[in-house]
Amino acid sequence: MKKKIPPLAPPQRLLLGPGPSAVPRRVLEALALPTIGHLDPCYLEIMDETRSLLRQVMCTSNELTLAIPGTGSAGMEASIANLVEPGDRVLVGVNGVFGGRIAEMARRHGAEVETIEVPWGETIPIDRIEGALARGRGFKLVALVHAETSTGAHQQIEEVGDIVHRGGALLLVDAVTSLAGMEVRTDDWGIDALFSATQKCLSCPPGLSPVSFSGRAVEALERRKHPVRSWYLDLSLINSYWGASRTYHHTAPINMTYALREALVLVLEEGLEQRFGRHQFHHRMLRAGLEAMGLAWIPARTLTTLNAVEVPEGIDDARVRRRLLEEHQIEIGAGLGPFSSRAWRIGLMGASSSAENVMTLLAALEEILRGEGHPLEVGVACAAAKEIPGQGAAGPR
Ligand SMILES: *Cc1c(COP(=O)(O)O)cnc(C)c1O
Repeated sequence: MKKKIPPLAPPQRLLLGPGPSAVPRRVLEALALPTIGHLDPCYLEIMDETRSLLRQVMCTSNELTLAIPGTGSAGMEASIANLVEPGDRVLVGVNGVFGGRIAEMARRHGAEVETIEVPWGETIPIDRIEGALARGRGFKLVALVHAETSTGAHQQIEEVGDIVHRGGALLLVDAVTSLAGMEVRTDDWGIDALFSATQKCLSCPPGLSPVSFSGRAVEALERRKHPVRSWYLDLSLINSYWGASRTYHHTAPINMTYALREALVLVLEEGLEQRFGRHQFHHRMLRAGLEAMGLAWIPARTLTTLNAVEVPEGIDDARVRRRLLEEHQIEIGAGLGPFSSRAWRIGLMGASSSAENVMTLLAALEEILRGEGHPLEVGVACAAAKEIPGQGAAGPR
């Protein structure tokens, strides 16, 4: 007799970690639509629509705007692989895991990397970028992480573009945890290469990495002396598939493109300003609740999409997270690197950013912390969150 393999039955979780975020039903339904060929005229039209929607969400008119198969790190590596040639000088701001990852990728692609390092939780001071560029070291690229998910720090990007361009370099920005949750003005801020991921504020499953290159970045691509070392991530080849010639490069993840298109439609139906306001409001509710429980905020310049707080003295970080998951079906993130067992990272990204989710988390965390011996008055967290003036919106479901 054949052994019966049980059907897949993943649990329903409340995703309040550093990604993935909650995926609305309409996006899940888009994934289940019929798979068609990657050169089917109907699919090519869906690609065109998707890149046009991406341009709107990224606030850019860049022709080279598309979604690379792979997660956010694929977009990061594509940006580096295409803009860096062996021996190029690259300046990277490192204030957490992801700045460190960009620097490591740039080294592996043969760049001479200089880093500006600040303690985790802080952001890179603009005058240090200016200073490094003024020393006349001929940087080709400056890379910054807009939303450092490992620490919750919000890097200033506006105005950096001008400084970088005056220094003769291009500006690369990691917008993985900000795009569609916080303002990202690719063209106005002079960003030359931007990458993101589907599973954070876009509220789509992981699997695609939106990327956009400015005209300046495309010129740098055209001036390359050596071919891009990664064939798969060669943006000129990928763009020939997305562009007029439709040259086969890889078999597109068709159904993921459907999902991304639907996720982008949801973002634009809500409206960018409204969506950023929703993230801001729920961040303030969460912050009021956590601070009422005595939890200290880590970054001075905080994101609204990812909230990093210190684990209270005497509390076992892993035990609390396990209880949240097992008893309340809630996922939050652990601290990384120097913040290991010292920080909690609470994501309120995309569809996960709602008043209901904030209240559910605050009530559960308060109950667990009290059970773990942290002295708290019953209901303080939710009461503080309710005090925040304004109105929450539910966000797409
Ligand atoms: C999540 C994340 C990445 C990497 O994305 P993956 O999808 O995990 O590959 C890069 N940068 C930042 C800031 C992130 O938060």
